[in-house]
Amino acid sequence: MRPLEQAQRDVLAAIEQLPAGRIELANAAGLALAEAVVARHDLPPFANSAMDGYAVIASDVAEPPVVLDVLEDVAAGSVPTQVVVPGSAIKIMTGAPMPAGADTVVPVEDTEPGETSVRILAAWPHGSSVRPAGGDVSAGTTVLQIGERLTPARLGVCASLGYDRPLVRRRPRVAIMSTGDEIVGPETAELAPGKIRDANRFTLRGSLDELGVEVIDMGIVGDDAAALRDRFAEAASVSDVVVSSGGVSMGEYDLVKHLLAELGSVDFWKVAMKPAKPFAFGRLGDTPFFGLPGNPVSVAVAYEQFLRPALLHMMGASFLFRPRFMGVLKETVVTDPEKVVFLRVAIVPGADGLLQASLSGAQGSNILTALAAADALAVIPVGIADVAAGTLVELEMLRMPESRTAAEVTNV
Ligand code: AMP
Ligand code: MG
Repeated sequence: MRPLEQAQRDVLAAIEQLPAGRIELANAAGLALAEAVVARHDLPPFANSAMDGYAVIASDVAEPPVVLDVLEDVAAGSVPTQVVVPGSAIKIMTGAPMPAGADTVVPVEDTEPGETSVRILAAWPHGSSVRPAGGDVSAGTTVLQIGERLTPARLGVCASLGYDRPLVRRRPRVAIMSTGDEIVGPETAELAPGKIRDANRFTLRGSLDELGVEVIDMGIVGDDAAALRDRFAEAASVSDVVVSSGGVSMGEYDLVKHLLAELGSVDFWKVAMKPAKPFAFGRLGDTPFFGLPGNPVSVAVAYEQFLRPALLHMMGASFLFRPRFMGVLKETVVTDPEKVVFLRVAIVPGADGLLQASLSGAQGSNILTALAAADALAVIPVGIADVAAGTLVELEMLRMPESRTAAEVTNV
């Protein structure tokens, strides 16, 4: 058996980054930057008011109440034409440029407006409610690095700095298919004897959509050499990566492995992990190929350990793996000391702030409902045969658990 870390190394070593190109910012969510984002100007670009109020000289309002002459009004988007001198003020809106001479904004709540003057009711120290130019970023600063993925906030940063067409690596096109004579589509109303509905294409699709890659759905292929050969060739011709599930174990109808040797270069690995031990990896022509096992939980675990990191690497992302946090395993579990064992667990925050992980169902590799209820994979390393309840374990987060129902918010 190949150690998991070695299998991960071998996969990544065989995967190349996709080319970089410019893309409309509105279409760039989730992609990884292929250029650093450098501030071309200060952000904010000019000193401005953080409040609706009056721009003043702080020393003028040190002993309130005081009455100041109002020289003009400045709205966001316009510029002051007057200079604030001792005894005067300019009415200013949030986001409007600070007038010359003024150093402080008194919020409107602390004022009483008159006809051409304002009564200031409270003292505010020098600089209050003023957002200085460059207070967020100063010109020339590198704000985002190559390899950072464009999260919502980073899209906002790009937009603010005029990166309307950032240089990113393109979205991988990923062809997916399910194999097996027993597999029928989810629309099948009545299952014929021996048939099951296809789960894998849909869990894969959900994962790939979440990652932001382009999915090409190649459907279901039976355990038929000619059909598989055709579908693999077609898939490879339209995609950057081909992914199949099923047909990679030891059975007589596990044709995937026999075929691939013929169509490209493919290795069959037994990886020291559970689930997802059998795994095929190689190329169809030049196109990387991932032959995932058939069991639905194995598909998800193999996706997390091999395919997702490989796709992120293709996209040029710096970080490839889900975060791991420590948490307490609530149950005693017997595992396999020969393999890295991934347990499906649900996470609840404990009273002491420590994460608590409970098995989210039975741990067979066919138990999809346990995967559906899981927030994380508890990772039990090689060399450990059983884990006692209360042990601290690594939790590889599949998602962040959501929190607070509408009823919890409204029925307080
Ligand atoms: P295989 O790797 O082809 O031997 O499949 C292993 C197990 O996974 C078998 O019980 C299959 O019926 C099941 N399986 C294979 N493909 C799928 C699929 N797309 N959806 C649900 N179960 C599947
Ligand atoms: Mg099969």
